[in-house]
Amino acid sequence: MKIREFDVVVIGGGHAGCEAAAASARVGAATALVTQRVTAIGELSCNPAIGGLGKGHLVREIDALDGLMARAADAAGIQFRLLNRSKGPAVRGPRAQVDRMLYRQAIVALLKNEANLTITEGTVVNLERGRDRQFTVQMHDGQDLVCDAVVVTTGTFLNGRIFIGEKSWPAGRMGDTSSVDLSATLSRFGFKINRLKTGTPPRLDRNSIDWNLIGRQPGDDQPEFFSVFSDRVLHDQVSCGVTHTTQKTHDIIRQNIHRAPVYSGQISGRGPRYCPSIEDKVCRFSDRDTHQVFLEPEGLNDNTVYPNGISTSLPENVQGEFLRTIPGLERVKILRPGYAVEYDFVDPRELRPTLESKQVKNLYLAGQINGTTGYEEAAAQGLVAGLNAALRLTKCQEATFSRSDGYLGVLIDDLITHGVSEPYRMFTSRAEFRLSLRCDNADERLTPRGIAIGCVKPPRAKLFQESQEQAVRLRTILTNHTLSPSHAKKLDLPINMDGVRRSAFSILSYPSIAFSDLAVIWPELCAFNKKVVNKIENDAKYSVYLERQTTMVSNLLRDEALKLCSDIDYDSIVGLSNEVRARLKDTRPVSIGQASRIEGVTPAALTILLAWTKREALKEKASKQ
Ligand code: FAD
Repeated sequence: MKIREFDVVVIGGGHAGCEAAAASARVGAATALVTQRVTAIGELSCNPAIGGLGKGHLVREIDALDGLMARAADAAGIQFRLLNRSKGPAVRGPRAQVDRMLYRQAIVALLKNEANLTITEGTVVNLERGRDRQFTVQMHDGQDLVCDAVVVTTGTFLNGRIFIGEKSWPAGRMGDTSSVDLSATLSRFGFKINRLKTGTPPRLDRNSIDWNLIGRQPGDDQPEFFSVFSDRVLHDQVSCGVTHTTQKTHDIIRQNIHRAPVYSGQISGRGPRYCPSIEDKVCRFSDRDTHQVFLEPEGLNDNTVYPNGISTSLPENVQGEFLRTIPGLERVKILRPGYAVEYDFVDPRELRPTLESKQVKNLYLAGQINGTTGYEEAAAQGLVAGLNAALRLTKCQEATFSRSDGYLGVLIDDLITHGVSEPYRMFTSRAEFRLSLRCDNADERLTPRGIAIGCVKPPRAKLFQESQEQAVRLRTILTNHTLSPSHAKKLDLPINMDGVRRSAFSILSYPSIAFSDLAVIWPELCAFNKKVVNKIENDAKYSVYLERQTTMVSNLLRDEALKLCSDIDYDSIVGLSNEVRARLKDTRPVSIGQASRIEGVTPAALTILLAWTKREALKEKASKQ
């Protein structure tokens, strides 16, 4: 039997696994990435796109911490669009269609650049914890990897089962085996395991689609990239097709609904609310007689088309029948049928803010295994888990992110505080501090932290420093230049005629005044980089609200600093209701801040908890004297 030793072993080469392994290696831990198929590293299991509303923010934050996803998406991008362009900058979401193969290649190339990372092919069947607290990661072929910390990122594979109509078989996704033994191992470790489901549409042959009958959606003329390193498109850009379901499509689906596994009772796990199957759409929104379908090319040299909006697990012949009622798809050829997959996930309330298990020290979980859905949510968790697994070992440190630091803080706090009853996906509406958590300032919020903990490499640190220097210079110029209302009026700038002289920064806060208007007056403003200008302009537009948010953020940070032990005996705290006790025992919050966000934990209960914590701290202090 071959035994190899590492600091950290990451199980799974999906989006969480790749970020976890790269982050761990970046902070200097000897890291192994073990995955079932090396050729499937970075596989986009469902749609060929990265980013979107809320998700785009996560990708920018991953980039700010020197993660992989943003650079890989830009390297593989075949269409870039900024969603919500007409709305405020805080809720805009960069999104890219990517070439599936180029994306995998880009991820592998970035992983290969990591000096401390070893990639190994194999299926992990068991984890053992020795007396020395080390883990033995056992593979199906008898190889063992010994390590101090493990990050499990097995996606939809734990006890995964695929469904197409009446047919069903064990699989992690189409063509990949499910991880049955590893799920049993996690149960043995004491994790609470439950079932969720997701689904994917049939894949279509591009040459069998009548493109003349289909609308086109091109990308933006001025592409918005994800990574601060990117400044140009690398490939030909494509348009997506837009068509729609018809009354006939819905009739066929309704006639066969009893054959869909969710409706026939074969699947019990809840599916993603915001990515419903076409069966769900037809049943839940029965008043609508059409739904949009986007035809997304899977690659430049690939005839496969992904029909976004019609994920289904109806029998294959029914899929063909309803597809042929959609304009442009009358003669369509299915390359691979759509399917649903049901899988085990772990209750994320069993995790700490570092994504380490509360029960099993140095065991971390990240990605779909924690009940999320989506590549970006998985990648963000992977980065945090991998970073922490390595930081604990190499520097005895932790890196946690609060809700005011970024969407990755919001994501993790939501998961570990509320748990999940359906696959969790990110939205801007989940972030209460969204005016300050913008896509354009992710680097400002997170890169300095990344530099301090050692996960940001010198090229990014240098680029960040340069852009910060520019930002400071620009802010100084905007603060120093001032105009009186009468002068502004002469220049056609509509500001309040109140006699108050205003700085250019303050003038920029008016919604109707753009940076370009000021650059006409002060031409030296033209010398600044577009990204820096964009960030400062957004800061100015939101400046009034940001001042208000600062107080809320400091209250949050104060409550987060009031720590709660993981072994508090909530039954012994007089005055708490049974309901509140049960909720606190379920989540075991790590701080008063987290306790305050648990549903049903009232302000009165928090006061009792706070008083109890202070008393206990005093008792402990007295006993030590
Ligand atoms: P994955 O990307 O699934 O990666 C898991 C990795 O772990 C794989 O590399 C696998 O080989 C490896 N692995 C598993 N078990 C073992 C083991 N025992 N030993 C070694 N390696 C192992 N997301 C959406 O947002 N919207 C959707 O509509 C949507 N639909 C989906 C439909 C389907 C059919 C599937 C499969 C996924 C869908 N997703 C969807 C989810 C999306 O694919 C995931 O959210 C994302 O890939 C999760 O990333 P991950 O890293 O957690 O897991």
